[in-house]
Amino acid sequence: MNLTSKLPQTGTTIFAAMSARARQYQAVNLSQGFPDFEPDPRLIRILTEVSMEGFHQYAPMQGWQALRQVLSDRIAQRDRFRYDPDREITITSGATQALFSAAHAMIHPGDEVILFSPAYDCYEPGIRLAGGKPVYVPLSFPDFAINWAQLEQVINANTRGIFVNHPHNPSGATLSMEDLDRLAQICKKHELWLISDEVYEYMVYDDKPHHSVASHPELRARSVVISSFGKTLHVTGWKVGYCLAPSAMMAEIRKVHQFTTFSVPTPFQVAISRYLREEPEKVDGLSRFYQAKRDLFVNMLAETKFEPLECKGTYFQLATYDNIKDCSDQVFAQWLPQAVGVACIPISVFYPDQQDHRVVRFCFAKKDDTLRAAIARLSAL
Ligand code: PMP
Ligand code: GLN
Repeated sequence: MNLTSKLPQTGTTIFAAMSARARQYQAVNLSQGFPDFEPDPRLIRILTEVSMEGFHQYAPMQGWQALRQVLSDRIAQRDRFRYDPDREITITSGATQALFSAAHAMIHPGDEVILFSPAYDCYEPGIRLAGGKPVYVPLSFPDFAINWAQLEQVINANTRGIFVNHPHNPSGATLSMEDLDRLAQICKKHELWLISDEVYEYMVYDDKPHHSVASHPELRARSVVISSFGKTLHVTGWKVGYCLAPSAMMAEIRKVHQFTTFSVPTPFQVAISRYLREEPEKVDGLSRFYQAKRDLFVNMLAETKFEPLECKGTYFQLATYDNIKDCSDQVFAQWLPQAVGVACIPISVFYPDQQDHRVVRFCFAKKDDTLRAAIARLSAL
């Protein structure tokens, strides 16, 4: 049968590829972003209790009510705005499905949608499958800031929306309140919607707050805000995320959500809702927890020939390797597990034209011993 691919340029994600390579060479896997430590035992106990009590049938399509309620309360406290749990919050199968459903709800064939590169890998396929055209605006290097003049330049009569990710994967850059103001001005002037991927919202460092789009009155009125409990509770395998949007937008997103997955596994939703009520301070302390890991990793990198870039948020640390090897970042990332037994991610894969700054990404969401073992191996270079 002659099959015409709808995504001819898309291969297997770099995360699957590099984790497989890490296994092949028994390398310390600092490539794909997931913790190698267990979540809070209290969360696992609650999940066990919940599954013994029942909760094994479909959850409501829009998500478990108690979970939407606790989210609404938390967001009201932090961002001084209450999303209506019944009409403005939906629980999704991870942030990935929220991003896909939001893209399909918002994008019509021929629409142009702006992305900032380097861009997390799942945005573009969602845009293309919806019939949209991705338009990339490169972030500056090495500080990964938005070039506002360039952004304005690419906007035309077909532009409908912007994807933004902050704290930013892979760079760890964050957005300030002034950045949100400028985004709001541009979105308002050109009548654009915004999809804001904030999965690393609880990982921001050096006493800086996370400025959620949910906290910005003009912007949130035209935005979908997306996050993930996988990151926040160290349970990437549970695949539970959520999105927030004004009710008219959310009604459209739910039309897609109900036929993408219908609903998200009930026991996980019930367990997370109980845990967030009982242990709110655990989430609030996440930045402190990860900042200690960032600092440990960056300090130890001084024992190697890598040079770290600045990391303001996320659990990723970028580093240059100019003093080690003269090659592209993709060649370097393929070589590293085999050479010394450490896996990383080349960041050129997040650019549409594979732009190569000769920078790789290490995930520091690992036990301190894992980070030490990785550094011992990297020091040999
Ligand atoms: N957005 C970003 C920026 C990510 O790094 C990830 C990866 N975890 C996701 C979305 C997907 O999140 P989830 O695993 O909840 O689908
Ligand atoms: N978000 C994770 C990362 O950036 C990967 C998630 C995945 O493998 N889909 O490493």
